[in-house]
Amino acid sequence: MSLEADDCGSNTKSLHFLLVPLMAQGHMIPMVDLARLLAARGAFVTFATTPVNLARIRPIIDRVATSALPIRFVELYFPTMDVGLPDGCESADLIPSVDLFLPFMNALSLLRKPLEAHLHGPDLARWPKPTCLISDNLHYWTADVARTLDIPRLIFHGPSCFFLLCGLLIRQHRDELEAALEATSSGPIMLPGLPHPIRVNKHELTSVMRSDPNWSKYMESVRVAEESADGVLVNSFVELEPWYFERYHKVKGKPVWPIGPLSLYKEELDAKATRGRVSSIDNKLLFQWLDKQKVGSVVLVSFGSMVRNTITQLMELGYGLEASSRPFIWVVTEVAERQVSGVEEWITEFEKRVEGRGMVIKGWGPQILMLGHVAVGGFLTHCGWNSILEAISAGVVMATWPHFYDQFLNEQLVVDVLKIGVAVGVEKPKLFGVGDDNEVAVKVTRGRLRRFWRG
Ligand code: UDP
Repeated sequence: MSLEADDCGSNTKSLHFLLVPLMAQGHMIPMVDLARLLAARGAFVTFATTPVNLARIRPIIDRVATSALPIRFVELYFPTMDVGLPDGCESADLIPSVDLFLPFMNALSLLRKPLEAHLHGPDLARWPKPTCLISDNLHYWTADVARTLDIPRLIFHGPSCFFLLCGLLIRQHRDELEAALEATSSGPIMLPGLPHPIRVNKHELTSVMRSDPNWSKYMESVRVAEESADGVLVNSFVELEPWYFERYHKVKGKPVWPIGPLSLYKEELDAKATRGRVSSIDNKLLFQWLDKQKVGSVVLVSFGSMVRNTITQLMELGYGLEASSRPFIWVVTEVAERQVSGVEEWITEFEKRVEGRGMVIKGWGPQILMLGHVAVGGFLTHCGWNSILEAISAGVVMATWPHFYDQFLNEQLVVDVLKIGVAVGVEKPKLFGVGDDNEVAVKVTRGRLRRFWRG
């Protein structure tokens, strides 16, 4: 069945989706794709987020305006400084230290007031009333908004069904897993109830159920709101994880729609180049360089939007790339507003040494386009779910270097279940990638990396 706008438009004309994405690139980007997919099928879409996030997607907003897609972008004031966050800290990647993570998450509910002000404001009269709210799962407070509007609420989950199911099983078997981990000194134990031998470690338990009581309180609100949701949207597809999709669906006992990969949303290349935010490199030069490389020869190194490595680890990675014989592109996000001290200076020198063979992107790169280029044959990734989906969609094999949260389990999906990647061999997580001072400075040595490129 064709899913073009013309075919479905007449059925969807009266629909109006209110989208409330989480302010984190890995959640925001697929929700922007979803907004455009819904609008392309004739539905009205209101996309509500904060000024910094709207500024980041300005090129997309401008395109939507010229293409006359029925999407309205609504600005929600986020009172960062009132809750002890730095001015402009409106996205998870901008949180400067780990102790501000929870204040950021707790402050999300402050978006309710401006959202309701919009919903009851004069502007709405020109559009039909929202008929369905789609909110990121972590915006638990939207359950009340949907209730007040008397409309269904669907939740959007960033990660895979595999991870979501593992999370449910970890919660269900928490006590026995903790006891088993206590009893063994030799590392991970197996998660029961799965068709593959999936290992869990202490950090998997704590990253899913952190011991901080305030975090538990926050997550309990999320859980309650999830229970009341009318359905679940997952950025995945059944063929990728059939067993996990079926089982997750069964356990949830409500509709679960696998709507991914959302990154395959069709649009012109220069529009795709602005996914998330505008590229920090001249894309023309970047692709001229890529065009000159042999098919499948280039390694792309990118750790998504949240990871912030230490200067020592970045240097070690750089030396590993330098010592390899491969052409590479390395996206270094630890510059500018996400600055790690000393990185700019070191990278500038590094760039000179690898000139011609390596490209360094300081800030944000057009990841999806780079992965889609024939010259790119390998992807060193932090195992963020969007990055994995994008690599799979482009047919690029992965070297996996997880850092935190879902990434260690995602790694097992890639390496052990799907067998489309190899693990670099990191076993312990960082705290949350933001100002994590107590961690071991170097988790992956240049020697280990060099072996990878050679292999
Ligand atoms: N991304 C990008 N350019 C960059 C870094 C990231 O386009 O320089 C995109 C990437 O393609 C993906 C998203 O940002 O769509 C990152 O999401 P993911 O789930 O992989 O990781 P997270 O940032 O949430 O850790």
